[in-house]
Amino acid sequence: QPSSDLTEDKIQVAVEVCLKPTSTAGIHEVRFAVERMLEKRCLSYANGPIPVPADDILLVENVERICICEIDELVDNQDVLLFWQVKPVVHVFQLSEEGPCEELSADGQPSSFNEWILPAKEFDGMWESLIYDVGLKQRLLRYAASALLFTEKGVDPLLVSWNRIILLHGPPGTGKTSLCKALAQKLSIRFSSRYPQSQLIEVNAHSLFSKWFSESGKLVAKLFQKIHEMVEEENNLVFVLIDEVESLAAARKAALSGSEPSDSIRVVNALLTQMDKLKNSPNVIILTTSNITAAIDIAFVDRADIKAYIGPPTLEARYEILRSSLQELIRRGIISNCTDDDHKILPSYISLKDKLAQGVDDTETVELCKQLLGAAEACEGLSGRSLRKLPFLAHAALPHPQSCTPLKFLCAMINTAQRERSEL
Ligand code: ADP
Repeated sequence: QPSSDLTEDKIQVAVEVCLKPTSTAGIHEVRFAVERMLEKRCLSYANGPIPVPADDILLVENVERICICEIDELVDNQDVLLFWQVKPVVHVFQLSEEGPCEELSADGQPSSFNEWILPAKEFDGMWESLIYDVGLKQRLLRYAASALLFTEKGVDPLLVSWNRIILLHGPPGTGKTSLCKALAQKLSIRFSSRYPQSQLIEVNAHSLFSKWFSESGKLVAKLFQKIHEMVEEENNLVFVLIDEVESLAAARKAALSGSEPSDSIRVVNALLTQMDKLKNSPNVIILTTSNITAAIDIAFVDRADIKAYIGPPTLEARYEILRSSLQELIRRGIISNCTDDDHKILPSYISLKDKLAQGVDDTETVELCKQLLGAAEACEGLSGRSLRKLPFLAHAALPHPQSCTPLKFLCAMINTAQRERSEL
């Protein structure tokens, strides 16, 4: 069939449709309406929001926003695709506003895990706000998609083996925990037609092991009992986030050297055995993070399929992080925008480089972005977490915060960055 050949040539683009909290419309109905709307739209596709069509009452009443997501990085033409190159894949979802549900242990003490219903309002926009070198986020997303597909198709694990365990490691503050949560949120949206329900269980390994160990044993048992219950429901997609797994190795080592009761070995082993058991369930993905690579338990590292090092942000990532923060402060009117155009979008790192290469460096915006680049250079060595705090600290250090131009603000930010770095 020639038409299907044509479809295969097309590039799949995810279109995410977020329903209003009050919407009671059926997901299929909305998806159908958006698909029809996209068929009519002979426009190009680029990352970002597209307007909800004002003449479609169903969409106007029910849809909060429509967003085109992650056009492949390999696309030329400045990340823009023409409509005939694209096969849009529409994902409709509604955010859960329930917040974390913290499990209390029998004695009323907070236990060591939190549970979220996905997609959760708290994690909305997190994926987009995390900035890494090209390819990292896509790689994680594709990996998870393949893992879920292999399981779905019943690939024999004796012939092709894969686990559904991801390990992100690197220095503190590089966004590992946030990336795990954001990934779970993305996957819950992208796989909602196969798994209409999705949960995230967040376990902090450190707090699990800092309690006395007899208690930890019970906690691990309780935790996994809960996870098994969730996983039994085959329409549930369950994410288990285990933060700071290096504390598992530490607990085991301490036990071996005799400084901790040998109970801790049993707890770590129980955790690993339980994780192995989960391997048989197709609908679980285990996400783990560690701040120290060397100290992760070898038994643990072996189990992970994807081990991604998350380092401090590169110059480009630092520029993009600061750019998005600055843009937000301009949007909220905290910094007055006196550039050429009131709604000016500051150019991305790549388009700034292009402009500079072409010798366009006389407009006010380019001038501003050169200064922003200077600020990004001054932030070398700072973590993503420090970068996200920097604009706030810079604002607090301004002598006259009421009348702040972007240029003045950037000067303050460079000074603050230098101070922060000297305190590292
Ligand atoms: P980690 O788990 O690596 O210690 P977190 O996930 O706790 O890091 O990150 C803390 C915060 O720092 C994030 O919520 C985010 O605001 C910011 N951050 C860290 N790295 C980045 C990044 N690469 N891009 C954007 N924000 C970042």
